[in-house]
Amino acid sequence: MANFRVHVLGAAIPSALAAGLAVAGGLATPLVGGVCFGLGVLGGMLPDIDADSSVPTRIIFGAFAVAAAAAVVLALHDDLAPWLVALAAVAAFLLVRVGLRGFTAWLCVHRGLVHSLPFAALVGVAAVLVASRAFHLAPTPAWLAGVFLTGGFLVHLALDELFSVDLVGARIKRSFGTALKLGSRRQWFITAVLYAGVVALVTIAPSADPFVRDVTSRRTRAAIAATFAWLP
Ligand SMILES: [Zn+2]
Repeated sequence: MANFRVHVLGAAIPSALAAGLAVAGGLATPLVGGVCFGLGVLGGMLPDIDADSSVPTRIIFGAFAVAAAAAVVLALHDDLAPWLVALAAVAAFLLVRVGLRGFTAWLCVHRGLVHSLPFAALVGVAAVLVASRAFHLAPTPAWLAGVFLTGGFLVHLALDELFSVDLVGARIKRSFGTALKLGSRRQWFITAVLYAGVVALVTIAPSADPFVRDVTSRRTRAAIAATFAWLP
């Protein structure tokens, strides 16, 4: 299993290159390119939210807990005595930090279905939908956002598999085959739900045709070539 730093770097390097190409090719504004880079790195961390003690889990639940405590203070500070507000804020913090985290840990087995190809596709299509519906992005940048998130996710799965091969001893660890997988026969129902979810989201997402056309167009290649024309 690859560690946190390997995952962040492993996702950041290809994401930076791809975002640079997308901006050079005129597929994305520099702002969208920057967001895509961020999504690629996020995708590289995302699969390990199913690990109890992983760094992203600690960061994500820590942030949620602080936000919950702040929300409680904002909601109650007019009506209650300060010591009661403080008590409620501590309770909210603990509820999220310990309670919610324990619940997700119970729900997700590490290297379960979160570490799978259909889950990688699902988060990508979900990002396309959010980008187009909530942020009103055109189909091409919206799909670009989804491709970066799924791309980072896939890099994570590939790194997990790579690190389950013990290169020194040339042995294959037991975790091999638990990251890059199409699903799980034992959890066939959740696997089926994941695939159905991908299909459903693709149906309501904007068409990917403009994205494919733009990415493969001669104009995009020419724009990239022109950007790097000063290179020897
Ligand atoms: Zn992992």
